[in-house]
Amino acid sequence: MEFIKLNNGVEMPMLGFGVYQMNDLAECEKSVEEAIKAGYRLIDTASKYGNEVAVGKGIKNSGVAREKLFITTKLWLQDAGYENTKKAFEISLKNLGLDYLDLYLIHQPFNDVYGSWRAMEELYKKGEIRAIGVSNFRPDRAMDFMLYNEIKPAVNQIETHPFNQQIENNRFLSENGILHQSWSPFGQGVLNVFNNDVLKDIASKYNKSVAQVVLRWLIQRGIVVIPKSVHVERIKENINVFDFKLDDSDMDIIKSIDTGKSTFKNHTEPEVVK
Ligand code: NAD
Repeated sequence: MEFIKLNNGVEMPMLGFGVYQMNDLAECEKSVEEAIKAGYRLIDTASKYGNEVAVGKGIKNSGVAREKLFITTKLWLQDAGYENTKKAFEISLKNLGLDYLDLYLIHQPFNDVYGSWRAMEELYKKGEIRAIGVSNFRPDRAMDFMLYNEIKPAVNQIETHPFNQQIENNRFLSENGILHQSWSPFGQGVLNVFNNDVLKDIASKYNKSVAQVVLRWLIQRGIVVIPKSVHVERIKENINVFDFKLDDSDMDIIKSIDTGKSTFKNHTEPEVVK
């Protein structure tokens, strides 16, 4: 596993395990256990996913020491605000069966995010969270947050995959010392990433799968990835990306399939705020 240093010095694994839409809680628990046994050390959940308890059980069942793991959860938008955030944080921690978090993210850039951030800064200073960050913040909101808060976000987790490469956003985040983390590296498996001819050609050249090429391409851009799968073979396949390197020409070729647009929830739409 490779690691990257966040702007506060904390080391974060370059690859982790996402558990969005793992609604079958027994399956979620088992998958988290399998992922940790396969070598994953970062688990990415959210209170909104409704599976923090199962994630906590999977962590426990893995038998891997807590301090070797990097656990992320997220604050949902209806829990925003100073007091609510403190309560939501305690509930998440209890659900997960943990006594500290590695990374706590504001899930959406709406509601009283400044009140939330005050609470998160306090929890960070008390050592209850090792790093605090945001998700789905466009550059204007991220800049606002950097300028008008005491602690700068360590991470911004945003949609990033071959069809929405976030090239400008990546430049903005790296120039400002905020770690870019990708959500949905495979476009949730619904955008036909795995059948893309450009990616298939590159995969056959390296004798790797399309999934492995996509993850490797993101990691080489300095972007932390958190692919999701409930199948043990794919869980293992997705972490097996540290034994090859895409050359510069292949990195450039992948740029050609960017659409520069999201096909998922549009975070600029008023409906998303509800
Ligand atoms: P993903 O892009 O990781 O795609 C997962 C799907 O890809 C699987 O369900 C499966 O259909 C397919 N797949 C996985 N591995 C494969 C393989 N090796 N071969 C073939 N098919 C494979 O989707 P995701 O779960 O949406 O994103 C990853 C994680 O990002 C989430 O689990 C969650 O933790 C996080 N996330 C965060 C936000 C946010 O708003 N912050 C939003 C979405 C996701």
